[in-house]
Amino acid sequence: MGTGLHISGLHKVFTVGRKEVSALEDATLHTDKGSFLSLLGPSGCGKSTILRILAGLEEPTSGTAKVDGKTPAELRSGHELGIAFQDAALLPWRSVRGNIKLPFEVARMPVDEDYVSELINLVGLKAFEHAKPAQLSGGMRQRVSIARSLVLKPSVLLLDEPFGALDDMTRQRLNIELLRIWTEKPATTMMVTHGISEAIFLSDQVAVMSPRPGRIKEVIDIDLPRPRHPDMMRSHEFHALHDRASELLFSPDALSVAETD
Ligand code: ADP
Ligand code: MG
Repeated sequence: MGTGLHISGLHKVFTVGRKEVSALEDATLHTDKGSFLSLLGPSGCGKSTILRILAGLEEPTSGTAKVDGKTPAELRSGHELGIAFQDAALLPWRSVRGNIKLPFEVARMPVDEDYVSELINLVGLKAFEHAKPAQLSGGMRQRVSIARSLVLKPSVLLLDEPFGALDDMTRQRLNIELLRIWTEKPATTMMVTHGISEAIFLSDQVAVMSPRPGRIKEVIDIDLPRPRHPDMMRSHEFHALHDRASELLFSPDALSVAETD
């Protein structure tokens, strides 16, 4: 209890030349272990910065960020972290298969070739498993990156717009597959997305951020039952949640000023 994502009073100031850019201001967020949280917010509000801090790629200026009671450094050294970021960051000289099994090698663990094959099938890249990243489309590279993030069956999953470059059909299919994998082994997950429907469909909670400097404006509990089915996206509850998230996202400051005046 009390574990999961634990972000408290997170501040991040970037220094660009002689200017200081405040990216995060007092971002605070808690979730339960094994829960799925999506992060929505306008471009530049600090979503990726939060993920990069959780992944140990960036130090906060102040505040703390832990997952399941562990610091980012501890998660990394325990190989408990699955990460898929926007810029797929694949090794250009390695094949699709070579990239997907990389985390085993980094962790000095025996490669589970069957699971690697299963993930390659899952993301629809069977015919491309020996291709190099330069031979793939942007969407295909993203699918490699998603498969790679899942290959160690991580207990913590950090996804930064993992489906951004995909067409709607592929996106839907991968959402459903991601849900299936996550249901089999629920990782404590934070996913940044621009897709409101996708966020609601997958998540236990959807956090909406305010414009820069970012803070968490509101966390919406998604109390739709699990297992989730695509049909649920047509329910009244789903539409109500979608409206709530859109409202927070698109008319944020006008509304809150009007309310507090
Ligand atoms: P988002 O992912 O929500 O679009 P980011 O977290 O990438 O936003 O960025 C938040 C703010 O911090 C932006 O104004 C961005 O320009 C700035 N920023 C992010 N990374 C850096 C960096 N390494 N150096 C300077 N400014 C940065
Ligand atoms: Mg970003």
